[in-house]
Amino acid sequence: MSIAEFDVIANYFSQDFPKRSDVVLGVGDDAALCSIPSDKQLVVAVDTLIENVHFPLKTRPEDIGYKALAVNLSDMAAMGATPAWMTLALTCPHIDETWLSKFSSGLRELAESSKVSLIGGDTTSGPLTITIQIMGFVTPNSALQRSGAKSGDGIYVTGTVGDAGLGLASIEKRLVLARPLQKIVESRLHRPTPRLVEGKALRGIASSAIDISDGLAADLGHILKASGVGATIETDKLPLSSALRDSLSAETAWNFALSSGDDYELCFTVPKDKERDLQDALPVNSYTRIGTIERRTGLRCVSSNGRMFMPQESGYEHFIKLNIGATPRKRRSRSR
Ligand code: ADP
Ligand code: MG
Repeated sequence: MSIAEFDVIANYFSQDFPKRSDVVLGVGDDAALCSIPSDKQLVVAVDTLIENVHFPLKTRPEDIGYKALAVNLSDMAAMGATPAWMTLALTCPHIDETWLSKFSSGLRELAESSKVSLIGGDTTSGPLTITIQIMGFVTPNSALQRSGAKSGDGIYVTGTVGDAGLGLASIEKRLVLARPLQKIVESRLHRPTPRLVEGKALRGIASSAIDISDGLAADLGHILKASGVGATIETDKLPLSSALRDSLSAETAWNFALSSGDDYELCFTVPKDKERDLQDALPVNSYTRIGTIERRTGLRCVSSNGRMFMPQESGYEHFIKLNIGATPRKRRSRSR
């Protein structure tokens, strides 16, 4: 049975989402009305997920809903912001109530745990595409940015890197993993943990920050460019999960850690005189120092024997992979 657009909104995208007292007018009118605290700055980001580009074709709808919000929350985390509201622009090929119900439940699950209200959106027909705009707050002049890294600062990442890439490789059958490992890394791909707590804790401590969506090397590259500096990473220090270490050779694992996307960990830099503050702000096992910012531009990766390591593939770039005017290459589902 097919239901109309208005019923879709009423049934799946208005009730049961977290309510907030700062939402004056939510879903149902021409636009939403929200109260912004007078002592805060508004932080806004938007991210789109396209089927078969940002998630593989067979991804479960509840995971798609979860991830669509997670990648946006990750942008809030990278700014040190507290998320508050979202809008959802949903384009789907037809109305499939089973799909919508599962998608909405995955989205709601993360909305509840992060206390984000769904305040509006748009529903259209076309190839499956999900755009979420997220809005949040930060104390004025405390937002983390990409541009503050200075020579001598330590480079850090939260959690472990490369697992989501391994998850995608497993789904695409580019390698075969033992079943329990497969479950762990696929869940890292489908349900990334936005590092909101860490991002907030880093305000006033980190000199720069970014979330890892395209791959550590590529995303650190954005910090380096914005800050006008270079860096050396020590590959032996890269935080690798046991899933990654146990299933790949050291060099292949480094390649995953440096070049595969979708981890949604934070990469950040901390000046020497703030190292103590960092230790006080976050549990020591929640982050790892992987290298140092240097005056000389460019990114260098060295292993413990002092040998240079060249990561094999840099982060995902849409228009290159989409082969506009280029020789067709093997299609890959990978974020951004
Ligand atoms: P309009 O034609 O005025 O843009 P719509 O019919 O598109 O209005 O939307 C009606 C209401 O439902 C609006 O408040 C809009 O924000 C909300 N809405 C539409 N689609 C969604 C969605 N996918 N999720 C949440 N709210 C939605
Ligand atoms: Mg509309």
